[in-house]
Amino acid sequence: MRYVSTRGRAPSVSFADAVLAGLAPDGGLYVPETWPQLQSSARSIAFGHYASAAMHALWAFAGAPWEDSPKIANRAYLGADEPTPRWPLVVTPLAQRSPGAWILELFHGPSLAFKDVAMQLIGPLYEHLLSERNERLTVLCATSGDTGGAAVEALKNRDRIDLFVLLPKGRVSDVQRRFMTTSGAANVHAIELDADFDACQAILKQLFADRDFAARARLSAVNSVNWARIAAQCVYFHIAAQILCAHGPVNFVVPTGNFGDALSGFVAKQMGAPIGRIGIAVNANDIVARALKTGRYERAPRSHATLSPAMDIQVPSNFERILFEALDRDADHVARLYDQFAQSGGFGIPPQALAFLRDHFAAAALSDAETQAVMQETWEHGGYLACPHTAVALGFGRDGAAHLDAPVVTLATAHPAKFPDTVEAATGVRPALPARCADLFDRKEDFVSLPADIEQVKALIRDRSRAWR
Ligand SMILES: *Cc1c(COP(=O)(O)O)cnc(C)c1O
Repeated sequence: MRYVSTRGRAPSVSFADAVLAGLAPDGGLYVPETWPQLQSSARSIAFGHYASAAMHALWAFAGAPWEDSPKIANRAYLGADEPTPRWPLVVTPLAQRSPGAWILELFHGPSLAFKDVAMQLIGPLYEHLLSERNERLTVLCATSGDTGGAAVEALKNRDRIDLFVLLPKGRVSDVQRRFMTTSGAANVHAIELDADFDACQAILKQLFADRDFAARARLSAVNSVNWARIAAQCVYFHIAAQILCAHGPVNFVVPTGNFGDALSGFVAKQMGAPIGRIGIAVNANDIVARALKTGRYERAPRSHATLSPAMDIQVPSNFERILFEALDRDADHVARLYDQFAQSGGFGIPPQALAFLRDHFAAAALSDAETQAVMQETWEHGGYLACPHTAVALGFGRDGAAHLDAPVVTLATAHPAKFPDTVEAATGVRPALPARCADLFDRKEDFVSLPADIEQVKALIRDRSRAWR
């Protein structure tokens, strides 16, 4: 399978190159040249092990049969201390709320956020690709909270990788920070910058833009533009849809920030999963909901800090991939619209593309007050503690579910204990950390504090990265 850029100004590449690079050199995002079908029966997706479904996804995206994929999928989803295959509902449990309503819990990984599901696959996948090429890599990650912890858990103690996490001082919760700073691994370097998230991200972009530095450090990024994340995330959509499709296609509601997870649902559908529509649930950062409603994709004057911080994203990168699809894969058109976006902060979505988007997706935005009310209701009437991101999606019904036919699966993206203050304020209950990380606050923290100065970050990477040459 070859991968092409959504802007059409870069050569096509292999799966391995797309995954190791992250972003395409023309500023576009890689997508597979055609949509592969999952070469596995509906029955074995519904009733097989999680790793087996993940293996079929790797085959589909890397080109089947890729003989190394069972090994990679097994390493990702077996767990070292638990060498038996795990059933899907152990990796991503499904809870029922009412006859047609389900919650797919994606937060049972090591850092208690849905990003673990994909990162757990990226760890062994990167290690495998790098050992095949006998290369080392410096992985950079700027985080507003959850990506950093998931990357640390997935990449710690990996011989061919050094991981540098840029985190904004004072802007992440204590639980989130400790998932980044307490690994004890020599290849993990947490850097607390005296800056906000946007400034951390700006430094990361400048490091990549410095071609000489990026090449010598062999930089790579594991943010959600990386195709491996989308490939790994479409697995739980396939499984849940096959388990629940007895009475027709299954709808999903996805708490959305960078549009990676929602896109993964669409990709699963293109691969043959019985999926109806995908509900996009957003907070006050509602560019996608506005776009579906008005037909204009337009940046708001400023971003809003909300109770669901992992979704506080102004411009969702993965929207570019769905727009590419909606425009019938016309890369020139995508490039023109994004040029316009860079200049004026918005563009009109052509009518046919808008019809395509409305056909596959519905969208709704929830305010913080509504989110809090949903958390309270869900606890008082169902005994279910939801994290604020999950609550935004559970509240989708108030506005958006009228556009969906049952059954509906709502994705739960973080463990409530990752946001204990918000959950307690809404429900009166302070959620406890699961037993396996109950000692999080006793672990020793290790991180470097730096001013928001790119030269100091560069010096640290030069000094510590084993990939440097
Ligand atoms: C990252 C994240 C999201 C948003 O996912 P996208 O793929 O960026 O849309 C939602 N909830 C939580 C808890 C997250 O960490």
